[in-house]
Amino acid sequence: MHQHLPLNDGHSIPQPGFGLWQVPQDHTARVVREGLAAGYRLIDGAAIYGNESGLGEGLRTTDIPRDEIFVTTKVWNDHHGYDAARRAAHESLQRIGCGYLDCLLIHWPCPDHDRYVETWKALIALRDEGLVRSIGVSNFMAPHLERIIGETGVTPVLNQIELHPRLTQADLRALHAKLGILTQSWTPLGQGKTFTAPAVQTAAARTGKSPAQVILRWHVQLGCSVIPRSTRAEGLAENLSLWDFALTEAEMAAIAALDAGERTGPDPLLFS
Ligand code: NAD
Repeated sequence: MHQHLPLNDGHSIPQPGFGLWQVPQDHTARVVREGLAAGYRLIDGAAIYGNESGLGEGLRTTDIPRDEIFVTTKVWNDHHGYDAARRAAHESLQRIGCGYLDCLLIHWPCPDHDRYVETWKALIALRDEGLVRSIGVSNFMAPHLERIIGETGVTPVLNQIELHPRLTQADLRALHAKLGILTQSWTPLGQGKTFTAPAVQTAAARTGKSPAQVILRWHVQLGCSVIPRSTRAEGLAENLSLWDFALTEAEMAAIAALDAGERTGPDPLLFS
């Protein structure tokens, strides 16, 4: 049903997970319970998604023990800086209503604020104090990664970046591999834009799987952590069924060849 990927701090992260972006607060507890019942053990949240209390309610009303579940949340752009980031983490913990987070990420580097190194130092302190088990980043580009590592000596466990067949992020993935950072793909299905591409359709026909499953399997074979979002029980179950087939090297290459350097979200260098 699910597997685990190792992190550079000795912990591991379940694969795949599911994301809570745009899940309405009053549906979140149900989606969390259904996801856990289907077999997921990784939940990707964020303060800005506005549904952390629903996430917490889902955790409290499931039969799955808390220590089998990996909960990620993120510090939003208006909480950069040492004190603000610490406050943000405490507020997230309070909203979720649990004693610790499995992973806390800096949501965006916001280079024009130029405070992400201070924010990273706050995450290191939170980890050392035991409130957060693992710490990572999201939407960081090479210069941001090199700077936080250079200034603190602490390497993020993962970098959650936009990644799908239209934006394959080969250079950043190679840097992550060199630095020992896990690549986690956000919007892994790329808004469905490549569901009808021949490379995806051919692999789907050969394997008897859906286009979404083929694309998620492509991420898995690249070694990336995936966190697709679905609010339907059938979609959640479909996105978990990734282990009974494999793509050939030619199929992997054909999907990667759909790369057009095309983002669905903002450019991390400009967003704040
Ligand atoms: P996604 O790639 O998971 O796609 C979601 C869309 O695909 C939804 O419309 C859903 O109904 C549809 N879908 C899901 N499963 C399907 C299936 N099996 N068949 C057909 N359609 C299917 O996109 P996403 O939600 O943008 O990204 C996933 C998660 O990544 C988010 O929920 C969030 O947790 C995270 N995320 C992070 C950032 C960031 O800046 N760090 C940005 C965006 C998203």
